[in-house]
Amino acid sequence: MNKQEVLSILDEFGFQAKKSLGQNFLCNEEVIGDILDLAQLDKTTTCLEIGPGLGALSEKAVLSAGTYVAVEIDTRFQPRLTKVIEGNGGKVVYKDYLALQKEDLPDPSFAPEVILSNLPYYVMTPIMLKVMKDFPSCQKMVYMVEEEALDRIMAKPKTKQYGPLSVVTELFGKKRKCFTVDSGSFYPAPNTLSAVIEITADEEREWDPGIIDFTESAFALRRKTLVNSLSSSGKYSKDAIVSALKALGKKETVRTEELLPTEIMRLYEILSSEKG
Ligand code: SAM
Repeated sequence: MNKQEVLSILDEFGFQAKKSLGQNFLCNEEVIGDILDLAQLDKTTTCLEIGPGLGALSEKAVLSAGTYVAVEIDTRFQPRLTKVIEGNGGKVVYKDYLALQKEDLPDPSFAPEVILSNLPYYVMTPIMLKVMKDFPSCQKMVYMVEEEALDRIMAKPKTKQYGPLSVVTELFGKKRKCFTVDSGSFYPAPNTLSAVIEITADEEREWDPGIIDFTESAFALRRKTLVNSLSSSGKYSKDAIVSALKALGKKETVRTEELLPTEIMRLYEILSSEKG
């Protein structure tokens, strides 16, 4: 899909991009092709796309994947997506992904191996975290993100950007920045540079989605110690957290941003096993 096609689809259906829904449509064939190459879809693959928009990625992805489902918040795209997705054997669920429940899917046992999304930037973090909760068996995620978010995903301990997104993606698998995308590759053009990233599940690890809420609680009060932040969730007592930290060889005054993702995971395991 190029800029001319995006403009003519918008014109045909008589709508304009909604900034409030993060609608920046891809209009660079080369970038679209490179993203689909990363997704490596074939007839054995089950794929979920979040926010198909006008179908820049979907029109080819639906033809390559075995099972293809998309979740789109904006019902205005229904006539267009009925043609490009449903007309080619895929399914579209019109719903805010953040409110999506298993029962909303065409098949509640749907377990996508590949997640594809040119993410709406205003809800990027909650969508990425929810995907890792909803689909623990997912093998690969290919996302378009804004550069500022990329820094948070890749951040290392003891930095300002280090937080739940860096920790949880690190624990989920291997993450890699694949390439940068300039703003001219979208219509309308966003204010920032974007990047395509790939997160591949680590076969060795046992993924427990409970780590997501735990990590968010541990970072909830960033200026406080880990003990104060985590205990404010009401799930663990200060005493239990202090003794779990001691087992890890950490002081009770430690801040969450000082811990490695694997140390946060270990803390979660100790505290969960105590709760029994
Ligand atoms: N995939 C298309 C492309 O690459 O051109 C559109 C990408 S655009 C950056 C983001 C898309 O996500 C839009 O279609 C927007 O309507 C949709 N969207 C925004 N918020 C959403 C949400 N909470 N749940 C599902 N879709 C959402």
